[in-house]
Amino acid sequence: MKILENVDLGARTTYRVGGRARFALTIESEADAPKVAQWLRGHELPPVVMGRGSNTLVADGNHDLVMIDIDVEPHLEVERDAGGWRVVAGASWALPQLARQLADHAVGGFAWAVGVPGSLGGAVVMNAGGHGGEMSHCVTAVQLLDLARGSVRWVPAADMHFSYRHSAVRSTDVVLAATMSLPHGSPDELRAQMSEIVAWRREHQPGGRNAGSVFRNPPGDHAAGLIEAAGLKGLRVGGAEVSTKHANFIQALDGATASDVHELIRRVRDEVATTSGILLQTEIKFVGFPEVSS
Ligand SMILES: Cc1cc2nc3c(=O)[nH]c(=O)nc-3n(C[C@H](O)[C@H](O)[C@H](O)COP(=O)(O)OP(=O)(O)OC[C@H]3O[C@@H](n4cnc5c(N)ncnc54)[C@H](O)[C@@H]3O)c2cc1C
Repeated sequence: MKILENVDLGARTTYRVGGRARFALTIESEADAPKVAQWLRGHELPPVVMGRGSNTLVADGNHDLVMIDIDVEPHLEVERDAGGWRVVAGASWALPQLARQLADHAVGGFAWAVGVPGSLGGAVVMNAGGHGGEMSHCVTAVQLLDLARGSVRWVPAADMHFSYRHSAVRSTDVVLAATMSLPHGSPDELRAQMSEIVAWRREHQPGGRNAGSVFRNPPGDHAAGLIEAAGLKGLRVGGAEVSTKHANFIQALDGATASDVHELIRRVRDEVATTSGILLQTEIKFVGFPEVSS
């Protein structure tokens, strides 16, 4: 394992705003588990696991916490299974790269992930999904490193309790790998499907600095539609702006701070509650400030 002090945590997120962590602890191998737990016990600081930071907003300032990340060469095993393929993949895979690799191996059912800029570990935690697919459809087991006990175990998908953008992974667990069951697919068809997904995203979602959808869709409704109906597209706080392209995205423009983004999230939530009577819940994860929720 590797330890650094005073690390720029905000820079690790796709918002690229926010402050610093007192320590960063990098797991370099599953064999690090006991040492990691021992080090954490000795320092008594809360751990915050970070993937590719594409669903995370870090508060400005200095944070008395330990950022935990993984630096393990992402492995990939693809074997024939009864109905298709059994895939084992390391948590640090970027989803778009993994989707393309799997297509090259004629593994279907994962093309949807080409537009999600997270890690496989973060996608398991969030039960990420889109375009009709989600992690819960294919994950059969998850390898977890327990930061408190310093142990590593495989947990079957049934115990992950996947639901909409949620899993049972605790804040003291680090996802190291996942096993997935996926169907056969034609590489050419999968590549064509991924091109369509990428084109659709370019047309409907903004580029720049954001963390994807800020709010969860309430049952039977769409957060973006509610925000747009409240007339909030383009609303700004400091350097943070409700995207004019997709109302559920909040952009960090030049000079934005994490406080700007956080305050804008709060204002959007309050305005939507006033206009529609629906209290939106956030999808993104907050580090260093309380979640903007009820
Ligand atoms: C442009 C854009 C488009 C997006 N589109 C989608 C979409 O279509 N569908 C969708 O579901 N999401 C989408 N997202 C959100 C995001 O990409 C996903 O939630 C993704 O799965 C998060 O992965 P990450 O590695 O970036 O997680 P992070 O932001 O780093 O972390 C998210 C949560 O997971 C935890 N975590 C991360 N890695 C691990 C690990 N290895 N072990 C344990 N805990 C971990 C963190 O502690 C945190 O609680 C989008 C984001 C952007 C910026």
